Amino acid sequence: MKNSSSTADRFIPRRRGKDMDLSNYLVSSSTQNYENGSGTKSDWQKRIYTQTLWSCMFGLNRKDVLKFSDGAHSSPKYGIVPNQLWPVKPRKKPVIGKPVTILDMPGIEFDITFSKMDWSKNGDLACIHEHEVYVWHENIQNAFKITETGKRVNNCIKWNNTGTRLAMGLKMSKIAIWNVQQEKKEVEVTCVCCPTYCYITCLVWTKANKLISTCSRGYMTLWTKRLSLLRQIMAHSKFITYVDISCNETYLVTSGLDNYVRIWNLAQLSEIIKLYISVNVKGLSFHPTREPFLVLGLCDVDYRKCKSSLILFNVLVENYIARKDFPRGTFIDALSFCPFSGELVVSYYFCKEDNKYDCEIAVHSDFDTKVDCMKYHSDRVVCLIWNKNTQELGTAGVDEDLCIWDFLGKANKQVPKKREKIQHSPLNILECFK
Ligand SMILES: [Zn+2]
Repeated sequence: MKNSSSTADRFIPRRRGKDMDLSNYLVSSSTQNYENGSGTKSDWQKRIYTQTLWSCMFGLNRKDVLKFSDGAHSSPKYGIVPNQLWPVKPRKKPVIGKPVTILDMPGIEFDITFSKMDWSKNGDLACIHEHEVYVWHENIQNAFKITETGKRVNNCIKWNNTGTRLAMGLKMSKIAIWNVQQEKKEVEVTCVCCPTYCYITCLVWTKANKLISTCSRGYMTLWTKRLSLLRQIMAHSKFITYVDISCNETYLVTSGLDNYVRIWNLAQLSEIIKLYISVNVKGLSFHPTREPFLVLGLCDVDYRKCKSSLILFNVLVENYIARKDFPRGTFIDALSFCPFSGELVVSYYFCKEDNKYDCEIAVHSDFDTKVDCMKYHSDRVVCLIWNKNTQELGTAGVDEDLCIWDFLGKANKQVPKKREKIQHSPLNILECFK
C-alpha cells in the first residue's frame, strides 16, 4: 500500500519522489503554519547544496578544515551516505535481539510528556517511584532509594553531566538539586511563575553545568548549577512538553501545548524560529553530529483523525527537508536519535489488520528504511533513554517494564539473570521470558 513518502535534501530531486509539493514549503522566522507555508525554494536549495557539497569534500565539521588536529577531537565516525537524509552509520543487519535486562517499573502511565527517568554518565539509572528517586546500577543489580524528600518529587529528574547531582522537579513549583555523594539536598528554589502553582515538565543540563527548567505554565528558566536565576522567559503560553539541545549547544528547541515549536539560540535564549504545529508533538531530537538537523514526531491524539508524521527540520534553512506521513491508526509515542550511530529510534503504536493494536520500537536509517526493531513490550513505550558508556538503550512502557537493549549488539549476549518478581517495587529485575 502506498502510504508514505519522503524526500531527501538532494540537489537533483529523486524521480520517484511522490511528495514534491514539499519543496515549495518555506517557514520563515516569523510565525507560519508549516502545512500552509509558501515561498521560493531556490534559496534554501542553494544552501542545502552548498552544505552537502561542503560535507562531502571536507567532512562534517567545517571548523576542522585546514586545521591540524591535536588529537583531542576525533572526527565523526559517520558522514552523509548517498540517499540518506541525515548523517548515519546504519547497521547492515538486525543486531539487537532480546533485551539484556528487564526491570520492573511500576506506575508508568501514558502522558503528554515523560521525564521520570534518566541514565547518568556513571551508569546510574534513576527513576521516580512513589515521589522519591530510586537508582539501579548494573554492577549492583538492586535498586535503592537515594532521596528523602518527604515524597515531594513530582515527575521530572535529570542527572548533571558528571552524574554526581540530580536535578528534580518537586511539588508546589519547586526545583531542587540532590547531591548523591553527600546524600542530601543542596538547594531548593521556586519556579519563577509562582505564586500560581505549576509543576516542572522538563529539565536539561548544558555542558557548562547550567540548568534549564520548563514548567506547566510555559515558563523556561536558566539557572546556575546552584540554582541562582540567570534568565527567565515565557516560552509558551501553555504546558511545555519537550526540550532538547543541539550537539554543539547552538540551538535549543521547545514544544508546547499551545501548538508551537520554538527554536532558540541557546547562548542568548533568543528565538530563531517559531513553528505552528496543528497536532501534538510526540518527541523531538536533534541529530547527534549534524547540528541544524532536528526530527519532530507529530501525532494527533484523536485516534479518529490520527495524523502522524515524522519531520526532518533544518534550522539553518528554516524549513523541513523531509517528511513521512503515516496511515491512520499509527501513533508515534517517543523518538530519539542514537548518539553513537545517527540511527533514529521511534516508538510506534499501531493498528494491525485484525483491528488490534500492537507496539514496536523501530530503528531507522531514514524515514522509509527500518534496519532493526525491538519487540518485547506489550503496551505503549513512552520513554527512550541512552547509556552512553555501555551503548545501551532503555525503553519503558505502560506495561510497566523497563527493558535494556544492547543497541549496537557488541556485547556478548547473555541470558538475563532471573529474579523473583517483587510487586510494586521499582527497577527489580524481571524474568526475561514471560
Ligand atoms: Zn512555573
